[in-house]
Amino acid sequence: MEEIQEKINILEEELKRKNSILKDLPPKAKRIFAINEIVQRLIDLIEPEEVCEKIVTGLSKVFKEADNILLFLFYRDKDLLLLNNSVRKGGEIIKEKKGDILDWWVLKNNRCLFIEDLLNDYRFDPSNIPAYKERNVRSIMSSPLSVGERVLGVVRVESKQANLFFLEDFRVLRVICDLGAVVLEKANIFSKIKELAITDPLTNLFLRNYFIERMEEEIKRSFLKNSRFGIGILDIDNFKKINDTYGHTVGDLVIKKIANILVKNVGNSGNIVARWGGEEFIFLIVEANKKEIKNIAEKIRKEVDNCVVGFRRKEIHFTVSLGLAVYPKDGKDSQELIISADRCLYRAKQEGKNRVCFT
Ligand code: GH3
Ligand code: MG
Ligand code: MG
Repeated sequence: MEEIQEKINILEEELKRKNSILKDLPPKAKRIFAINEIVQRLIDLIEPEEVCEKIVTGLSKVFKEADNILLFLFYRDKDLLLLNNSVRKGGEIIKEKKGDILDWWVLKNNRCLFIEDLLNDYRFDPSNIPAYKERNVRSIMSSPLSVGERVLGVVRVESKQANLFFLEDFRVLRVICDLGAVVLEKANIFSKIKELAITDPLTNLFLRNYFIERMEEEIKRSFLKNSRFGIGILDIDNFKKINDTYGHTVGDLVIKKIANILVKNVGNSGNIVARWGGEEFIFLIVEANKKEIKNIAEKIRKEVDNCVVGFRRKEIHFTVSLGLAVYPKDGKDSQELIISADRCLYRAKQEGKNRVCFT
């Protein structure tokens, strides 16, 4: 009987152990599934905003029991750490949009931070921490989003419950943030390249090809809406002389000044300004009739005529000529419109420069 009882005890122990493994398995499998999903979704993304969004939504699935997941981006030039994206399970309002002392600690040290209970942590005073004061947060896990030494931001997972996270959670957060940081870096580089491909470095205006693409979109839109738009080509008068007399650096200053005047007068939403070539610019004004575009062009011409660029205590004056065209009257496609505006520009030069011409 004793032997049998002994065997029963051993079997019961074994059963208990196996049952506990069985109980742990589904949540573990679910977590691995969530991690796998976040990895798969992240790696293909090329838009920085999408990457940040996917990191926080993915983490909210991995750490289901967390209350808030916050992602801050670091703006090196302004030395700012700003909240970019968050998942707040209880709909909590995050008042403090700039990172707090904990986020800055993670950023400056480029290291993870694990706080089991804010009230029992000797390193930080909870009364200085908005997460505790405003949201009663007790457990915090935080990881930098960094690629080597470069810290792009900070991710923070928090809960009102003390001692909620374990070391294993902490490791999972770090791995996801490391992957997230690499994908974010890739997306940032990708969008920078995209921006460089369409932007002129001297003036920051769009380049010719991008302008044509946008103009063609505007033609389609105006065709469907049965509306009008106008374009203008601007050329600096006697620019070669400015270069020859004062040098290319002054010439470049004149180009920048004119770019600023154009942006100021044309750069409303929907309108486009671009650098067409060396000392030529092009702009598009949506939903404008001939009179409206003529008024804007005339205002630009006058403003240029009245402005100066200073060089060695001299004031350098310059003027511009403009040719205009209106869709659909002066052309049905981009080429026809540009040819039409260019002809008017040629006429403006022939008639003595410093003037606006239109058909
Ligand atoms: P017009 O009144 O007939 O337009 O005469 P213009 O002298 O302005 O025209 P032209 O086409 O003879 O000369 C244009 C000059 O613009 C020649 C070129 O060296 C200069 N240029 C083109 N791009 C740049 C640039 O990015 N910076 C500077 N400084 N000069 C440029
Ligand atoms: Mg020219
Ligand atoms: Mg010129």
